[in-house]
Amino acid sequence: MAQRPYIVGNWKMHGTRSMLSEARAIDRAAERLIKAEVALAPPFTLIHATRKEAGLIAVGAQDCHPADGGAHTGDISAAMLKDAGASFVIVGHSERRADHGETDADVKAKAEAALGVGLSVIVCVGETEAQRDAGQAEEVVAAQLEGSLPRGEHAPEKTTVAYEPVWAIGTGRTPTVEDVGAMHRAIRARLEQIYGEAGKQVRILYGGSVKPDNAAELLAADEVGGALVGGASLTAESFLGIIVAAAERGEA
Ligand code: PEP
Repeated sequence: MAQRPYIVGNWKMHGTRSMLSEARAIDRAAERLIKAEVALAPPFTLIHATRKEAGLIAVGAQDCHPADGGAHTGDISAAMLKDAGASFVIVGHSERRADHGETDADVKAKAEAALGVGLSVIVCVGETEAQRDAGQAEEVVAAQLEGSLPRGEHAPEKTTVAYEPVWAIGTGRTPTVEDVGAMHRAIRARLEQIYGEAGKQVRILYGGSVKPDNAAELLAADEVGGALVGGASLTAESFLGIIVAAAERGEA
């Protein structure tokens, strides 16, 4: 697939305005590293400011509400994200599924709401350690894809999948490159079942303890089109180490 590797930073619940200097440094470096496509998902409170400080990279959100608006105290709609300068939103992150009880149906509704206002989506899937140990990883991920992916005419073009084994997030542990490749091939097959031909073009990111020193290896696994990065995206220095590794694989 001749797409540039897509490297997305998820700042989670980290960052106040003092962190905008990191976003600026990432943006400046991304101007040179054109063989990778770079994006940042800061917390809601920094989306607008990040968009203003970082004009080249994509800026997105970490969640949205499925409704257009209404009596949902504390929630943010997809249209509000767009108005703040977001071009994409991450949905179904395992921390949201665990902390907020989000189901596959919730994730799908959020993704479809986001597509409805013109945002792109990154839909996260991934098994727990117990599920992997029980030999159920592919089955669990297949069910999440079936239940969480947005449907509709333009859905495949605006959707990216992030495979993030729950046990690898923030733990410093990663699956083997072979396991990553096997899961990504299984995801590709499922995407083609769900979306037909268009499923061939959907990008599949790997996420879970990606660091500058393991990025090249993980990005080389079968069907890996980029990375979703948590902890290592919090400083320009470590995030750029990953972007450089991706740019070295990119085709321009
Ligand atoms: C994530 O939260 O999406 C993630 C992959 O985190 P980390 O890189 O810190 O494991």
